Amino acid sequence: MSQILQARDRLEQVSNNLAPSESSASPDHAPYPYPVPNPTAPFWRTELHELDSHRSTAELPAETDVLIIGAGFSGAAMAYHLLDENPSPPSICILEAREACSGATGRNGGHLKPDVYFQVPKYTALFGAEAANEVAAFESSQVYAVKELVEKEQIDCEFTLTRAVDVCLDADHAAKCKAEFMELRRRNVPSVRDVFFAEGKTAEDISGVKGAKAAFTFTAGHVWPYKLVLHLLQLAVSRGVNLQTHTPVLSVSPAQDDDGYWVASTPRGSIRARKIVYATNAYTASLAPQYREKIVPVKGICSRIAVPPNTNRPPPLLPNTYSLRYAPGIYDYQITRNDGSIVIGGAKPYFWDEPRNWYGVTDDATLIAPAVKHFDGYMQRSFRGWEDSGAKLDRVWTGIMGYTSDLMPHIGGVPNKPNQFIMGGFNGHGMPLICLTAKGLAKMVRDGAAFEDTGIPRVFKTTQARLDSDVNFILESKPQ
Ligand SMILES: Cc1cc2nc3c(=O)[nH]c(=O)nc-3n(C[C@H](O)[C@H](O)[C@H](O)COP(=O)(O)OP(=O)(O)OC[C@H]3O[C@@H](n4cnc5c(N)ncnc54)[C@H](O)[C@@H]3O)c2cc1C
Repeated sequence: MSQILQARDRLEQVSNNLAPSESSASPDHAPYPYPVPNPTAPFWRTELHELDSHRSTAELPAETDVLIIGAGFSGAAMAYHLLDENPSPPSICILEAREACSGATGRNGGHLKPDVYFQVPKYTALFGAEAANEVAAFESSQVYAVKELVEKEQIDCEFTLTRAVDVCLDADHAAKCKAEFMELRRRNVPSVRDVFFAEGKTAEDISGVKGAKAAFTFTAGHVWPYKLVLHLLQLAVSRGVNLQTHTPVLSVSPAQDDDGYWVASTPRGSIRARKIVYATNAYTASLAPQYREKIVPVKGICSRIAVPPNTNRPPPLLPNTYSLRYAPGIYDYQITRNDGSIVIGGAKPYFWDEPRNWYGVTDDATLIAPAVKHFDGYMQRSFRGWEDSGAKLDRVWTGIMGYTSDLMPHIGGVPNKPNQFIMGGFNGHGMPLICLTAKGLAKMVRDGAAFEDTGIPRVFKTTQARLDSDVNFILESKPQ
């Protein structure tokens, strides 16, 4: 908690324009078990695709081989991989509570940033070096997996391959990160080969971030997530998938019926499914209650900052993506879109000290009031040469992430529920995880492969032991 307060003090020193933090927002625990109506409007959903509110058929199909619940990146990638190079695909139905890609994927930062060094020491301590390196390698490979997918399917989603720049602004935190990084380098951890490290004046020079104490750069990407997902959904629909938006699943039968089908109930009737894939991320526990307190809805906030096109003082181009770290666990993440506008999320110092603002919250129809002012003047405060840019806050929105109590996603067959599968709990970090997770899980759903043959890191496997565990790291101000 004191780290949060220190980070907030630091931010307030940097900006004389910032008013003291307002009192916390009122807790907005959702009255719905599924996504709430009328969510805030993210920038990514300003150019809607024709499938946004699509229903392939007027009525729900009575039954399907595979029912995917959720049409975000997970659901769309799962459908894609179930169909890809499959001459005899199963029948597939996707049920989505709101519009297509209206959950976390449609309201995120667009940052495709693998964690190749930062969490590795922590994961090594928790899960052992081999497992930690496996996660880092898996994340690292996703940047190219998404690039290849985009190129193969010619997806118009502004995918851009770039470098991520992680900047530490606090001297003590910089020293800690440096020491951990040097230890990884000493141990020849493969994923750190791509990481370039600089400190002091060089860190500020190469990052352009005022007051940078250390900088770590490595391969990353950014993307227009909604366009990526809608393209995948379009491919799926063109290959016969039945997509039903505005169709929340209210419950799944506790047991299979006599014919081996699970039954999903919606306000529009029921559908019987041989296999179910929960691609519901933050909302999973409402349908699969064994994930309650294991995958927790966590509210986050994101924004877009625009630069006036005819400014006399165009700011320096920032071709990299960024994370500005103020203290352990307290950071902003940021991409520069190809039109020069900036998408930034984070702002934790303004609301993270009050868990009722974010923990267990599924309401993305409201902002997080105390956090909004963080984005005003952000570029001018943080980046060299942006002081006279005229950069202005254009839009703010919120979204719901699925954080897991033990820090790892839950992937694989749902324990004791034959033919039910889950991919969820991406801890606000799904973009560098989902593509190959879906590919691996599709092998289980489609071919009956064992989890161990999917290429998915072993610590992602959902197990009864994880469901029975009492650990909960989320409230410890989870660092990224
Ligand atoms: C503000 C914010 C910023 C983020 N920034 C980044 C970032 O820059 N980089 C990064 O890697 N990650 C980021 N994330 C996290 C990332 O967006 C997620 O990890 C990822 O999008 C998860 O994808 P998903 O498909 O599993 O979940 P979602 O995109 O949330 O999709 C789940 C879908 O399931 C639907 N659903 C839920 N319950 C039901 C039901 N009962 N019936 C029918 N449908 C249902 C939802 O409506 C939703 O569309 C961010 C998240 C937020 C909220």
